[in-house]
Amino acid sequence: MIQKEAEKIFETRELNVNMGPQHPATHGVLRLVLDIDGETIVKVTPYVGYLHRGIEKLGESLSYFQALPLTDRMDYVSAMSNNIGYCVAVEKLFGIEVPERAKFIRTIVGEMSRISNHLLWLATHALDIGAMTVFLYCFREREWILDLFEMICGARLTVTYPRVGGVRNDVPQEFLESLWKFTDEFPSRILEYETLIDQNRIWLQRTVGIGVISAEEAVSWGMTGPTLRGSGVPYDIRKHMPYDAYDKVDFEVPIGTAGDTYDRYRCRMLEMRQSNNIIRQCIGKLPPGPVMAEDPKFTLPPKDKMMMITHPTKEVAYFIEEKACKGCGMCMRACPAKAISGEKKKPHKIDQAFCLQCATCFAACKFKSMKIIPGGKGLSEEKLAELAAGPMPEEIAKAAEHLVRQFEFIKKGPKAPEGELYVATEVPKGELGFYFVSDGSGKPFRMRLRAPSFIHAGCLPRLCVGHLVADVIAAIGTIDIVLGECDR
Ligand code: SF4
Ligand code: SF4
Repeated sequence: MIQKEAEKIFETRELNVNMGPQHPATHGVLRLVLDIDGETIVKVTPYVGYLHRGIEKLGESLSYFQALPLTDRMDYVSAMSNNIGYCVAVEKLFGIEVPERAKFIRTIVGEMSRISNHLLWLATHALDIGAMTVFLYCFREREWILDLFEMICGARLTVTYPRVGGVRNDVPQEFLESLWKFTDEFPSRILEYETLIDQNRIWLQRTVGIGVISAEEAVSWGMTGPTLRGSGVPYDIRKHMPYDAYDKVDFEVPIGTAGDTYDRYRCRMLEMRQSNNIIRQCIGKLPPGPVMAEDPKFTLPPKDKMMMITHPTKEVAYFIEEKACKGCGMCMRACPAKAISGEKKKPHKIDQAFCLQCATCFAACKFKSMKIIPGGKGLSEEKLAELAAGPMPEEIAKAAEHLVRQFEFIKKGPKAPEGELYVATEVPKGELGFYFVSDGSGKPFRMRLRAPSFIHAGCLPRLCVGHLVADVIAAIGTIDIVLGECDR
């Protein structure tokens, strides 16, 4: 009896514990339910979805050309690469030809994004495992890259710099000079990281032989990117299905042999060197020319062409011609300042005191009952009516035409050919794929994403079982996931 009681008290049982979704080493809101026998992992069940923002569904409610900024918010540490992936997919769907210069610029910023991603991965992976200094070193170089992003588009994280058909604007000379200097110095910085951790005893003990996965298994689990290449599979979309300027540069695809956490670390370190090399080649070969496809069907008119009617300092007035107005109320509903009033089927009127000169009403009016009067701000209604009787100056009419095209383009978008399409690009974490089902309208009927972080989070049970609890941290780091992309 006493012995039975003692056995009951001292019996060993598997424990079921939660790790996350707020654990600092889960790299976001990932929840893992661990079944542990002592310190040993018996089972891991990943739970995702805590950061789900419905990006795929939102994409279906927007035109192909509007949804681009959503992709910044997926893997927010390599937004540039997501943007490029989306643009390449939409360009293929519409058959848009991107100018050579834009292809090279996109390759440059894509590789900068890869370096920036791998730096953040190394910094956090090392920090999780216990190495603080590497974290500080990596942020030093990452800051440089983010400063360069800021130089070309004004944003550091959610950039939306690549555009369907090219890039938003050309790169300034000082950007190229600073980037060249970066590529000069970066190899010696990689050496610094390696000196710190490559042969570090603790690093080796925490990574060698941890989370081993064979090439066959890695393929069957759907792994891609350096997570797959660490197991010795040389699959890289930049080589196998080149896009942008990847077919015009020389680079190698680093692979591992053992398929463990250390090999995946080595792959990413070598990849950073290759990216550095690709950037230097692209700068050397950067051709002159436009950076946006010159097809008015797919590109927005330049902003400066519309500035003269939308810029507040131009002192224009918007005026509704009484005789031409059908009283449909579209302008009233569209006006953000509530400056328009009127009854149904009766002429509407603009209260000039509240008008912000935003031009929305002009674009909304289908009956061309509006007039834009340069220098009309502050004039009386009678004077405006008098000026409105004449034709609009040619440059104002041209600017107004561009403006209406911009509204139409953004609101409805060009119509895509009917059918289905899957296009993948090699982002820092692996294969990012966009799948569109088009019903021939300006919006995707269905939009789905193949996010590498989602696939890799599903592989965690395979990487963790049989290891210790502390190795779960190394396993999460080695697959380099971002939950914004995983949950979408
Ligand atoms: S220009 Fe803009 S603010 Fe002025 S009336 Fe038209 S919509 Fe309203
Ligand atoms: S949208 Fe045009 S027609 Fe309709 S109420 Fe406004 S000004 Fe008149």
